[in-house]
Amino acid sequence: MNLLKDPFISTNHGKASLKEILTTDTDYQLQYFFDEIQLAMLQMLASLTTVVLKPTVTELKGYLDSGITAEQYDTTLSKIETKWFEDDSFMQSKSSGEKGFQTASVSKLISGIEFGDSKDASGLFSDADKVSIACSDCIHVLNYNLHMNISGQYFGRYGATGIRGGGVLTTLISGKSLKETILFNTVAIDFYDSLSVLNESVSDLLMWADPPQGKLYSASEIGLSRGLFALAYHIKLGKQEGNCVCDICGAESGVTYRTLDYLKYNGKYGSVKTDKGKENGAGLWLHPYTPRSVSEKGVFSLVPIGLTWSSWQDLASLVIEQDINDNSNAIPSYIVTQFRENFKVPINLIIGGNITKKASVVSRVYDLYSMPSTLSKNTRRISEVIDTGLRQKEALSHAFNKLFVTGYDKNFVSRIKEQAMQRFVANAQQIIQQILLDVDRKEAADLRTEAKAALNKEAKAVFKTVQRKYQHDLPLFKALVKGRSALYRTK
Ligand SMILES: [Zn+2]
Repeated sequence: MNLLKDPFISTNHGKASLKEILTTDTDYQLQYFFDEIQLAMLQMLASLTTVVLKPTVTELKGYLDSGITAEQYDTTLSKIETKWFEDDSFMQSKSSGEKGFQTASVSKLISGIEFGDSKDASGLFSDADKVSIACSDCIHVLNYNLHMNISGQYFGRYGATGIRGGGVLTTLISGKSLKETILFNTVAIDFYDSLSVLNESVSDLLMWADPPQGKLYSASEIGLSRGLFALAYHIKLGKQEGNCVCDICGAESGVTYRTLDYLKYNGKYGSVKTDKGKENGAGLWLHPYTPRSVSEKGVFSLVPIGLTWSSWQDLASLVIEQDINDNSNAIPSYIVTQFRENFKVPINLIIGGNITKKASVVSRVYDLYSMPSTLSKNTRRISEVIDTGLRQKEALSHAFNKLFVTGYDKNFVSRIKEQAMQRFVANAQQIIQQILLDVDRKEAADLRTEAKAALNKEAKAVFKTVQRKYQHDLPLFKALVKGRSALYRTK
């Protein structure tokens, strides 16, 4: 099987090839059981398309307007070495020795966490314990996911941090069809050149043809194709003969994969912090789907942290460059910038990734936001809606803080607060998504009033639920009454 030629992509029309998706008008939709894999597949397909087409902005616009013919696809394909995309080669660099390889089960290649034996690992992706088999098509997207999206932390000392930083947010542009989505996330080489800083000695060989050497993998030495498929491990796929039904795509396959063996590279990318939390001097490679943060400590991938994080809170900074605080700035991913500067159509933003807490994943995001193309004109409106949400969150948090004077065990009280805050943040997500749909049709003042009213109502509803639950516990009841009046005074 060759990833650039053969049908390996699971869709509503059965298995399709990249060429079929890009060169026909069939309404393909990806079909995978896990949103992690759905997201990884979108990244991988847009990256493969970048490697095949290597379009300029003008060419990319042409493909979006008039489509790509099968002949055009074949012509561009004839210019690259397709042998590196064969299933026994793709993203599998070989180690010179046999020692040190670890084994990961297929289930661990979805989110990165084993189910069962760690208290942090449960409940992340549904029915994890039912996942044990991948087919000969899906094993490649699982392998890609390991290198690009899964944090090395979950593999303990055998884990490596990849070129993106591991466990980071991904932002992509959503189109009207799968073909349009893939093309919107395809990197235009001339625009990329204008934003990236690469040395003249830069290499664009794929890493399974030429693994990186040394202790530090300098970002300025890594070309576009090399970085899009950058590796963090040597890989051996655990191929077994025999039929299976794949737990990832549901299709039948003549070969079975239950495991993958990995051995981490010796060097480090610029995405890895030093012990002092600073950049290690290699620089962060400009990965097209990774939003970044810049501070005096260096440039890093944006990693959402904490149980109550939700994508709406950082939405503005995922689309427009913003000050996070006095010391750091958030920069949208390259692909968002490419889209905003070259396509004057409404932006539909996909935000996906894991929310981490220490070495564990506490929740996942996979959200879609629609916003008008005239974003810069509406920046203030978007920020005001988000700020209204953040202010309301803070007011609710203050109201619950009254619980800490009850004298009850701090952990017990914290848990009550944390659960309620989580509920608010999750519900606020939907409210804000809905309000942002009107951002180019309504005045800033109206949007703000609407957001305030809806979010305040939600905060009160969450508070009331907690009050009702503890109405027979006198100390908690009294504390909540005080909190309630503080919440109701919120402007
Ligand atoms: Zn499969």
